[in-house]
Amino acid sequence: MTTSIEDLFAHNREWAAQMERDRPGFFTSLVKQQTPKYMWIGCSDSRVPANQITGLDPGEVFVHRNVANIVVSSDLNALSAIQFAVDVLKVEDIMVVGHYGCGGVKAALDNVRVGLADNWIRNIKNVRDRHQSMLDALPAEVRIDALVELNVAEQVINVAVSTVMVDAWARGQKVNIHGWAFGVHDGLLQDLGITVNGDKALDGIYKAAVQRIRHKWSKPAGGEVLTIEPRRNRQLGNEPA
Ligand SMILES: [Zn+2]
Repeated sequence: MTTSIEDLFAHNREWAAQMERDRPGFFTSLVKQQTPKYMWIGCSDSRVPANQITGLDPGEVFVHRNVANIVVSSDLNALSAIQFAVDVLKVEDIMVVGHYGCGGVKAALDNVRVGLADNWIRNIKNVRDRHQSMLDALPAEVRIDALVELNVAEQVINVAVSTVMVDAWARGQKVNIHGWAFGVHDGLLQDLGITVNGDKALDGIYKAAVQRIRHKWSKPAGGEVLTIEPRRNRQLGNEPA
């Protein structure tokens, strides 16, 4: 569909009018408060819009998106969004959502140079390198989607070991972190079974998720021994000073 900037404003006016017709007072109530239960950490990819995929209205999901849904401890943007969501909005569930066919993950896998973003994609290359032997053993055509899932697992752990989450769980706040993957080809979300909730069993949950990912994408005849390179600060609350 070809659109112009003017079309965007026209669509916006139609949408606002339709919302008000369907649900009188909707925007007035939105102004008063924002009480989302969910935080979505997803890829910036235009094909993965959080609200539409999940059927959530404005006001129902707090969203942070970047290239390839990465959470690193030096990224004040992502950490600030998580801190606000957890400490102020009191979200109950955070979902880290990758998507199959992710361009950022593909660039990392194929060592394609894209420019400044290479420095950002380095974070995915670190995930790739940790699981290189597993990825090498997989059929070439499924490696990207396996790495999409591995990256989600990695970022779930990165959220979990952030000071925001360590502090929230220490004071008894109930927050679950989930790892999902979205299929651009079918519009469906997959739960990757890597939900963590502060019970400090991160290492086991992570390893189980990696095993499942390996099993899922392996050829039936596969049987290679899985090796995972050590990851520093894996234990919850074991942050460097
Ligand atoms: Zn992507």
